[in-house]
Amino acid sequence: MQEKGTISIHTENIFPIIKKFLYSDNEIFLRELVSNAVDATQKVKRLATLGQYKGELGDITIEVSFDKDKKTITVSDKGIGMTGEEIKKYINQIAFSGATEFVEKFKEAKDANEIIGKFGLGFYSAFMVADKVEIHTLSYQEGAEPARWICDGSTEFEISPGEKTERGTDVILYINSESEEFLDKWKLQTILEKYGKFLPVPIKFGTKTESVEDGEDKEGKKKWKSIEVDNIINETRPIWTQSPNELKDEDYLKFYKELYPMSDDPLFWIHLNVDYPFNLTGVLYFPKIKNEFELQKNKIKLFSRQVFITDEVKDIVPEFLMLLHGVIDSPDIPLNVSRSFLQADSNVKKINNYITKKVADKLAELYKKDRKVYEGKWGDIGLFVKYGMISEDKFYEKAKDFALLKNTKDEFFTLEEYREKTKAFQTDKEDQLVYLYATDANKQDGFIQSANKKDYDVLLMDSPIDSHFIQHLEGKLEKTMLKRVDADVVDKLIQKEGGYSNLLSEDQSKKVKEIFEKAISNDSYKVEVEGMSPEELPVTVTMDEFMRRMKDMAQTGGGMGFYGALPDSYKVGINGNHPLIDKVLKAENEEEQAKLAKQAFDLALLSQGLLTGKDLTAFVKRSVEMI
Ligand code: ADP
Repeated sequence: MQEKGTISIHTENIFPIIKKFLYSDNEIFLRELVSNAVDATQKVKRLATLGQYKGELGDITIEVSFDKDKKTITVSDKGIGMTGEEIKKYINQIAFSGATEFVEKFKEAKDANEIIGKFGLGFYSAFMVADKVEIHTLSYQEGAEPARWICDGSTEFEISPGEKTERGTDVILYINSESEEFLDKWKLQTILEKYGKFLPVPIKFGTKTESVEDGEDKEGKKKWKSIEVDNIINETRPIWTQSPNELKDEDYLKFYKELYPMSDDPLFWIHLNVDYPFNLTGVLYFPKIKNEFELQKNKIKLFSRQVFITDEVKDIVPEFLMLLHGVIDSPDIPLNVSRSFLQADSNVKKINNYITKKVADKLAELYKKDRKVYEGKWGDIGLFVKYGMISEDKFYEKAKDFALLKNTKDEFFTLEEYREKTKAFQTDKEDQLVYLYATDANKQDGFIQSANKKDYDVLLMDSPIDSHFIQHLEGKLEKTMLKRVDADVVDKLIQKEGGYSNLLSEDQSKKVKEIFEKAISNDSYKVEVEGMSPEELPVTVTMDEFMRRMKDMAQTGGGMGFYGALPDSYKVGINGNHPLIDKVLKAENEEEQAKLAKQAFDLALLSQGLLTGKDLTAFVKRSVEMI
């Protein structure tokens, strides 16, 4: 029997389109063929388990091979095989949803995956790299006849009796002239490793040399010899397919090293395992971050039934968890649809929520289990948690119980604990609770000390995400404001009833303001004379909280570009109650006044690390003269 026919796609010629459109992605042909081989193998295994296949399963290793001279690549499996009828049914009828829809969809498609999955074109992706494809197959069914199918890339195919004597399918690709790069050992090895490293059926690709012990020599030293062994590409039972209670910490760490050989050990991990209402397994790791500039997204690999799909998990994993590493495997993620569809997909939404919840639960568990250990890791975890709290409200609600604030004395508090700690002292006359924070404990030391002297606590918020976190906290916490400790003099930061009145008269204050403005002669500095405690510094230079925060956020990409572009502007607070200011007023002449004022101003700048270059040199010189 020999039969010729036309592949029913109800449209002219599909292969040139496949080739042209999918060119950039053409390596996935191998993923598709190997996946088909794996499916066919899994099916025969299942039939054997169910007793519906009574023959010997035998060695079910799938083999990928190539022949540089003949220009062929062959994928051989020992799966269920196909009868001639099945070939007609499964291989010949592609684009079953109709030609019109197919062509319509084709125009919209953005990448190969989208088309291939949607129209069951996996097998036909072979024509992206091949002129001619042959199938040699023998079905597992008793008494089945071997069959052979040949297609040269037109819509014409030929089906005839075959010679195959063993159960399974060989797919032979005759590689076209543009795709000869695939007739290369390393190229194929790389592609197989990329997509097939964790497939559930062993995949053999040629052989490799291994050293094995070979007895001892005369001096009793071990001897080694080289032997050729099968080059098996994959690990058929990667840890995410195993049950967590079979696994030890070493297993998780080993797997992590395999995925990310260059990374430090992770802080901890979460084993994901759900089968209802969607199917998802995986292991997510919290990486140890050396510095925030090396934060890397797209470190999570997405698999579908152990076939690698992509490492762009955007939209599947919540944005803030993109910093995690690891793998997610789910057959329920629609892989072949456009991004906008993905976002609206209800399974994807559920998966998103599930992952968020799992991560929150794990953090809560670590927090409860050992607070000290948790505090020790906060430096690394804090970033995720803060990022998560800012970007996802659901996560904020959970995380507010285990998010920590750290003060300049290295003590940690939950949000609730901190409120309790500061409530009594740091509530101002408007009944607002004021949290003070420093971004640089060294530079802001003077201000921190002034605050501590008043029994105020100062938080340390020194990571780039903190400017955003502060802004977010302020929006969330009731009647609470956050102020950087150097945003003003301490009495102004937390204004209490009473306070100090300015002992200078209005005229005197005006005079002092003039003297300082003249001495400073720079528009970026706004001089104000105020009544403060005589203990406070005579002159302080501060930047307004709002202005500074907006600038910080602009710097770390918070969409505050406008503020980032503004010049810095500072407030110069003159303490009208300080004896030195009295001295300035009473100085012999204008020259002397200006000199004292300048000196006091420079001292204030100096304490803030703002006095540099020529100004610093002039200051030192002036100081020497004055001594
Ligand atoms: P999909 O795998 O998405 O169904 P394919 O075009 O890749 O689409 O394959 C079509 C069908 O052809 C498969 O569903 C399967 O029934 C059959 N098939 C393909 N490859 C093999 C194989 N190696 N062994 C047995 N059957 C196969």
